This record gives sequence, structure tokens and C-alpha cells, in this order.
Amino acid sequence: MYRLCGYDSFGHRAVAESLAGTPENVSAFLGILSTELRPRLEEDLARMLQMKVRGNPKAADQQRLEVWDVPYFSARARSELCGGGEDVSEYFSLGACMEGLDAILRSVFGAGLEVEEPEPGEVWHPDVRKLAVREAEDGALLGHVYCDFFARPGKPHQDCHFTIRGGRRRPDGSYQNPAVVLMLSLPPPSSSPGWGGGGGGGGGAPTLLSGGALDNLFHEMGHAMHSMLGRTEYQHVTGTRCPTDFAEVPSTLMEYFASEPAVLSRVVGRHHRTGRPLPLEAARRHCAAKRALCAADVHAQLLYSLVDQELHSAAAADLSRPPPSSSSVVERLHGLHHPLPFHRGAAWQHRFSHLVGYGAR
Ligand SMILES: [Zn+2]
Repeated sequence: MYRLCGYDSFGHRAVAESLAGTPENVSAFLGILSTELRPRLEEDLARMLQMKVRGNPKAADQQRLEVWDVPYFSARARSELCGGGEDVSEYFSLGACMEGLDAILRSVFGAGLEVEEPEPGEVWHPDVRKLAVREAEDGALLGHVYCDFFARPGKPHQDCHFTIRGGRRRPDGSYQNPAVVLMLSLPPPSSSPGWGGGGGGGGGAPTLLSGGALDNLFHEMGHAMHSMLGRTEYQHVTGTRCPTDFAEVPSTLMEYFASEPAVLSRVVGRHHRTGRPLPLEAARRHCAAKRALCAADVHAQLLYSLVDQELHSAAAADLSRPPPSSSSVVERLHGLHHPLPFHRGAAWQHRFSHLVGYGAR
């Protein structure tokens, strides 16, 4: 296919219209990242090894770190950093988070969210809430976001944003407003229906968001706002229907708000029972815990990218010799870029679904 279109590889075609431009640029970036990240990665790994040794000082086979220790000790370091204080998720009821998001969207984009009653038969499940997005200044309608937030049997367990109807200019000059879905897999509230707000709530416990769920809500809302505010001429290029790397810019921007102690304390976090704002110190601790050992996280992403780029490179498509197995590609790149020993047979690439669909991007 890429040959028919005049490209040197699948990767060249996939990134041609992206911010990166060419696989050579991607590879140069990943090379620099690998070098620059190394000292910080080694610091993180040394800290994890200390934790491991402290946990079982007598076992001789516990004296070195293995690749499978990395996610385990990252998670443990984070929960230890968060511990000692109160549970911050008590401040992140879904209602408080949506009101916080609304305040952020009004001040950043000049557009706010309004709950709207769906028509009979309009939504596919009673849990689904319909939000209108309106210009803050004059109330002009920009589009609709259907929020399908709660897990239920038969629903895909996946956080995502997708388009029902794209925005576009109609032949008569009017604008067709977009309609999108924001899908999460949050646990449903225990008794009181709805999202739950801050303070003075009724008897039921509202859905409280973990740090990860809060990040995902903000991320997906970034995609939804991209779709609302794109105002493109044609619907096949509206919102997230753009180069994959740029599509993640608005969503990543929104994630930064969920990682900023001042925003979490002043705008988003309110205790679901007392309405008290999240204390700044607790917000700082929460954000610091999220960043703990993050060089190891970035390094995992780096390896994913390196493998992805290699599997979609011109070399991989060289039909004059048998293609290498994905495991041999992973083993070689691991040897070049990972300080910990490689173990054959784990084959994480078989479970890395973004290799397909997002291939080379
Ligand atoms: Zn995204």
C-alpha cells in the first residue's frame, strides 16, 4: 500500500502529515530521549532496588532488579508517597470534577458545559448524560457531548472519545454542530443516582475518582473540546480526525490541569460530604506522587515507540530476506536501550494493541 502511494515504508506514510514529519525525525528524537533519560532512569532503578532489598534483606536473589519489578515498585512508591495523609479521592466526586472541568473550560476556552434533558429514546442507556457545550459569552451552542461514564455489563471496559456527528459547514452556510461521546468505566454511585457534588449531598455515596480516573476524564474531555471547538469546513477532518500526534495535544493540555496542585485545590477538589476544598498541601503530595519514578514510565513508552518504529520501518519491509520475528526486534532494542537484563518469552509486544491502528504513530 505505501509503495503504491510512493512512500519508502509504512512508517513514512503514517507520519507524513504529522508534526514529526518523517520516521527519521522520530528516530532522532527517540535517540536523544534515550540518551538524556538514562541518568534519571538509573536513579529511579537504584531507588527501586533499595526498596526491594529493604523488603527482603536476607534473600540473595533479591539483590538485583528485574524488568517485572519496575511497575510493581513504581506503584508502591506512589502509594507510599500518598500515604499518611487523607484519601484525596474523597475530594474528587464525579460531580465536583465536572464542575471543576466546566470552570477550567470557561476560563481557558470561553465555553462551558450545561446539562440538557435528552429526548425520549435519544440515549442508549439511562446512565448517559447529555451535555450542551455553549459559548460562555453569548450562550451560542457549539455541540453536544454524551457522557457514558459508568461501567456496566456488556459495555467495553475502555476510556475513549468518539464522534457521532462531525462539525462541518453546510451548503447553506449554517454550521452543523458536532456530537461526540465521552466514555469512561467508572464504578457507578452506590445509591443516589447522578454524579454527586461537593457538600451537603444526600445519603448515597457518589462515584469518587482515583488519580488515574481523574487524568483520564480530563484527557478525554480534551478530545471532546477539540471536536467542539475545531469548527472545520469539512467533517472528515474535524476535531480528532487530524494527524494522530496533534490529536493528543488538547487532551495532554487538559491532563496538565489535573496535575497542577493549585488547580486541584482551588478549582476541582471539594470534599463530597463537607464541601471543603482540597487542602493545597494534600494536592501537592498527590501531584508529587504521580511524578514519582516517572523516568521509568517515560522509558517504558520509549521502548514501545522504538519497537513500533522498527516494525514499521523500511528495513522491516525488505522482502529480499526473511523478516525478523517481533521478539528478536524487541530483544535487540532492549539490549541497546534498557539497563536491566532481558528475559526471553515474555513477549509484551503481543499485548501492545497500539501497534495496530496507531502503527508508526
Ligand atoms: Zn487521547
